[in-house]
Amino acid sequence: MPPGHPPYSVASVGTVVVTRVESAAAGAPVAAPVEVRRSAKRRRTVSAYRDGARIIVLIPARFTAAEEQEWVKRMVARVDGSRARKRNGDAALSRRAADLSARHLAGAAVPVSVRWVATMRTRWASCTPADGTIRLSARLQEMPTWVQDYVLVHELAHLIEPGHGARFWRLVDSYPRTERARGYLDGVSAAADLPIADDLAGDTNPDADDTTNLGVADAS
Ligand SMILES: [Zn+2]
Repeated sequence: MPPGHPPYSVASVGTVVVTRVESAAAGAPVAAPVEVRRSAKRRRTVSAYRDGARIIVLIPARFTAAEEQEWVKRMVARVDGSRARKRNGDAALSRRAADLSARHLAGAAVPVSVRWVATMRTRWASCTPADGTIRLSARLQEMPTWVQDYVLVHELAHLIEPGHGARFWRLVDSYPRTERARGYLDGVSAAADLPIADDLAGDTNPDADDTTNLGVADAS
């Protein structure tokens, strides 16, 4: 090491003037290494993102130590929080799907993944039988559990029977609150003027069979 070499690293890439790693702020839900980058170009904006295991927080170079501490805490909580919420939500949803499959479909429906997705305008949920994935619209999170369970059973049944034919509805009707839940979803759809049909039309990908209407199963 040449004489006068600083005992700490100074990043020289772009506008980042100081790079250092600190442990996650106290109170953060998940402890992740945090790298703070000060940028001379930044005036007031603070941003953060996850890069592998660590969280990068970008702050203006002129921030005081107290401002840095405050903003690191806030941004780490934001980055970790949204990820943890999504992960916990999806894990709980997968457990419920497994439970419903066991109780109402003799365990025959085994999805590869079940997860929440951002609100879909024309669908409550979707199922891709080809790869075994099920997605539920975040809009359902505000609805009663028994309505969400109906939607899960509906999508799980598509893993056994992709179409909306008589065989499909026999499977779904093993869930005792099917008719009530369909009525509930119809009501929400009508009240909010949403273009979502009562049978979760278009919920299977691709080539959805939308020919049923008002619960009358088609013959296919
Ligand atoms: Zn369907």
